[in-house]
Amino acid sequence: MPIHERSLIRPENLKTHEKLVMDGVDVSGHWSTFIEPRVVTDYNEALEEQIAALPGGEFIHRCWQCGSCTNACTVNAVNPDFNPRFWIYLVRIGLESELLRDKDIIWQCVSCHKCTYACPRDVVPEGIMKAIAHWLELQGHVPKSRSTLFDEEFTRQVVETGKIEDGRMIRNFFAATAQPLRQDWLVAMATRVARRFPVMLGIKMGLAALFRPRTRGWQRHQAAIEEYLGEQDAKRRKALGIGETQ
Ligand code: SF4
Ligand code: SF4
Repeated sequence: MPIHERSLIRPENLKTHEKLVMDGVDVSGHWSTFIEPRVVTDYNEALEEQIAALPGGEFIHRCWQCGSCTNACTVNAVNPDFNPRFWIYLVRIGLESELLRDKDIIWQCVSCHKCTYACPRDVVPEGIMKAIAHWLELQGHVPKSRSTLFDEEFTRQVVETGKIEDGRMIRNFFAATAQPLRQDWLVAMATRVARRFPVMLGIKMGLAALFRPRTRGWQRHQAAIEEYLGEQDAKRRKALGIGETQ
């Protein structure tokens, strides 16, 4: 299927002849604009299967390319290059090299789910955006995003203790993203919160940061969750043909 949306035609594929006369008719400049055809041979025939194997990508096969997701998309309204329908199309036909050209903007999805509500086929395009972003990271095409690093830290804490400790969460997330702990917005927020904070709650939080308490009887749940996460990870890596978790 040819790409026919003008916004999707790469500028380098538009050719214009400064001077051209055809059958005696001067079609110089704008009148002689052609789209240079390309022959694509590097299809990834497993691409749809790989995206479908990642969380959120399960229903990609249902898409019938109506474009309602892109029409409804919050990010597309400010950046026409952000085009969920187009990326789903590229994945389904295995045009990996074309998808990679947009690898630096796919992560911009803000998870507003407007596309999900607009989709008549229950494709859950928001999930597909997440799956593609995850796929780009797993394949090493982009570094892990801050959002992924946050999720990893969050999951690690829940799996280890059955609890989330806000202070440790912020410290570890900032360390993972090479951000200084002392940030103006954080100091301002902490100062404001401290003024109204119940003393006992502050003490409890301080103790929690120090001793890392676990939910009672958590070990049993932890083992089951770790087993499940390990199975899911192995399944995805097998579908993507990649090795163990780094
Ligand atoms: S969830 Fe993402 S893809 Fe869907 S409408 Fe919002 S920004 Fe666009
Ligand atoms: S709205 Fe749903 S069916 Fe339509 S193009 Fe988007 S994902 Fe595909």
